[in-house]
Amino acid sequence: MIELAPYAAAPDRSRGRRVAEAPPQGRSEFQRDRDRIVHSTAFRRLEYKTQVFVNHEGDHFRTRLTHSLEVAQIARSIARRLQLNEDLTESIALAHDLGHTPFGHAGQDALNACMRDHGGFEHNLQSLRVVDVLEQRYAAFDGLNLCFETREGILKHCSPRHARELGDVGERFLHGHSPSLEAQVANLADEIAYNNHDIDDGVRSGLLHLEQLEALPPVARHLDAIRAQYPGLAPRRLVHETVRGMVNALVGDLVHRSQTNIAQANPRSIDEVRAARSLVDFSAQCRVELQGLKDFLLSNLYRHFRVNRMGAKARRVVRELFQAFTEEPRLLPEDFYQQFSREGARAVADYIAGMTDRYALREHRRLFAIEEA
Ligand code: MG
Repeated sequence: MIELAPYAAAPDRSRGRRVAEAPPQGRSEFQRDRDRIVHSTAFRRLEYKTQVFVNHEGDHFRTRLTHSLEVAQIARSIARRLQLNEDLTESIALAHDLGHTPFGHAGQDALNACMRDHGGFEHNLQSLRVVDVLEQRYAAFDGLNLCFETREGILKHCSPRHARELGDVGERFLHGHSPSLEAQVANLADEIAYNNHDIDDGVRSGLLHLEQLEALPPVARHLDAIRAQYPGLAPRRLVHETVRGMVNALVGDLVHRSQTNIAQANPRSIDEVRAARSLVDFSAQCRVELQGLKDFLLSNLYRHFRVNRMGAKARRVVRELFQAFTEEPRLLPEDFYQQFSREGARAVADYIAGMTDRYALREHRRLFAIEEA
């Protein structure tokens, strides 16, 4: 057992849960949070939600579930090296995408546009809503009743208007404070994970080619080193070794830079961490390279015409579902219909956001194809 740093989150000093509960036996408060997340329905649905490639496009592409597991894996190894609380970091990482709509960013953009006159839709806020309200499995409370620290970490960003409505977890956005270091680690582990696995999936799909990738300095560095060591290596292994090397280098850089930042700021408690600027970060050079990678993925993968076509279909499905349900709320399943009579369009957003890709397509067919009725 590695000793926690004084600035780490300690489960016995948690700010607690919204509904008071007896302390857990044989596991910490943050371990209990992690277990509740893994047992939730929203977590299981991540298996059939798109990361970039829609589920039916192939069995080997990342889904929201495998993405979340990769984020958790990377986040834990960083947390351990910084003597932070691994369990809290893992909980935040596993929960960070629970509020994602079907069809990845295309789905989120479409739902946000549909909700423009009803308070908008933001997947990050929705993740918090899932764990605070939408999961209905416990006798004594709605949601998962997670610790403040886990909820604080799930809410990565938030507008001042929403921050005021959210109470305790919203406050830091009004005062310009930081979240725990565990939350900062989970957030950047997400960036490390998706930028690298999207390269891997991009090449696997045939939409990206190794030759294109060589224009990126960090990719070229790793490719050259591996080719020198293993001449004639099969492309699949070459890509994996490159991605593996890049993840490793980013983790190493992040740990090093963050250790320096922490030593300089010298926080003696989690509250001093919250009062300081973000301390978990990459080096300046690494930031520039990572931005180059993001720009490359945006223009060559996320905006590839084949990805755009899938995105356009996805937006159409979400828009049509939203329109059908808001025009005729009686088409909603009973519990969402009840919610609609209290909260209007928000109930439709919750219903659609909870759908997996394939469920949304099936529901769309049920509503629009006469022969399916
Ligand atoms: Mg993510």
